[in-house]
Amino acid sequence: MRHISILGSTGSIGTQTLDVVRTNRDILVEALAAGSNISLLLEQIKEFQPKLVCVYHADKAKELEEIVKKEQLNVEITTGMDGLLACATISSTDMVVTAFVGMIGIRPTIEAIKAGKHIALANKETLVTAGHIIMPLAKEKGVSILPVDSEHSAIFQSLQGNVGNKIHRILLTASGGPFRGKTKEELKSVQVEDALKHPNWSMGRKITIDSSTLVNKGLEVIEAKWLFDASADQIEVVVHPQSIVHSMIEYEDGAVIAQLGTPDMKLPIQYALYYPERKGPTSARLNFAKLRTLEFYEPDTEVFPALTMAYEALRTGGSMPTVYNATNEWAVASFLDRKIGYTDIVETIRKEMEAHQLIKNPSLEEILATEAEVYRRLNR
Ligand code: NDP
Repeated sequence: MRHISILGSTGSIGTQTLDVVRTNRDILVEALAAGSNISLLLEQIKEFQPKLVCVYHADKAKELEEIVKKEQLNVEITTGMDGLLACATISSTDMVVTAFVGMIGIRPTIEAIKAGKHIALANKETLVTAGHIIMPLAKEKGVSILPVDSEHSAIFQSLQGNVGNKIHRILLTASGGPFRGKTKEELKSVQVEDALKHPNWSMGRKITIDSSTLVNKGLEVIEAKWLFDASADQIEVVVHPQSIVHSMIEYEDGAVIAQLGTPDMKLPIQYALYYPERKGPTSARLNFAKLRTLEFYEPDTEVFPALTMAYEALRTGGSMPTVYNATNEWAVASFLDRKIGYTDIVETIRKEMEAHQLIKNPSLEEILATEAEVYRRLNR
């Protein structure tokens, strides 16, 4: 039986992970962590009875602690980074679902791996910035990094039964987001509400904005490099507006293997939780007679340069992916707070990448210092 910790249990991936647990009823939830949403955490504590819960923000943790005491719930409440690390390393857990948004996930992921936990990885920002530390560490500790991102899960599924066969290229599909077909000029007037409407997926706010700028696809290209040991030249992005083909692998002989399915994150989450076993359906089955068309296009990198910039960051390596990612985290939060315009997001990333003094093989401390430096410059 699986015993899991969910880091980011109140978010889009976190709640869908708990949906999968609720449906299958054979996974024990040992620990939950979130930022500040204590009303949802309280419901989750009552339903899933974890031993340990972390609320990152101390005032909210205190509030939750008082409530659980009053209601006589048998759970320990922790806070801050120490609390996140405790949830990631609790001895009774054998798998950690990393569903935080942003670089806050790096240290808990690294400590979970050191403690021998398998990782179901949704928190792509962690791998983008610290893949060179995480992947060798996971190998050394003999733990699996199982992708939750639907594209990477599709690639992982397309790899099954092909161990040792040479990959010609990875075809990473992208819906193209809500602004596919728009001009550069039209993007200038995009408002927060427009960017939060994704055509096919219901996700957290940050990744929804990232999908609209194609930064998300850029992050996924870098994530794919680390997960599948691929070079930048081997990873190709294909726009596929229907989001039915979740990604593909082309092998040396020209055969292309893909995973198809209804757009629903519960399938890749369930696959990661139970790998290599497949469980029951997580949503409606595909009806091919109704599908009719599956379209594929080249991405428009003139209008969406963030994708090209991600390839640049990947090829440059070192601390550059951290700059790409940290600047984007700052810029998306600023856009959501209506402090900068939509096209400023990608423009800010470009400027920060140009100004950055590269660190070739950054340590964890140097990655976090690079992030802090980006924030310091941008908040000036
Ligand atoms: P959400 O914004 O919906 O959820 C984020 C979670 O992280 C929440 O539980 C939030 O807690 C928690 N969190 C945020 N900051 C902190 C903090 N400082 N300390 C502790 N917890 C914190 O994000 P998503 O679920 O959409 O995305 C999570 C990750 O998965 C991202 O890396 C995203 O790119 C990736 N992903 C998401 C997909 C999706 O469909 N949503 C698809 C593929 C990948 P609180 O609610 O209390 O703020």
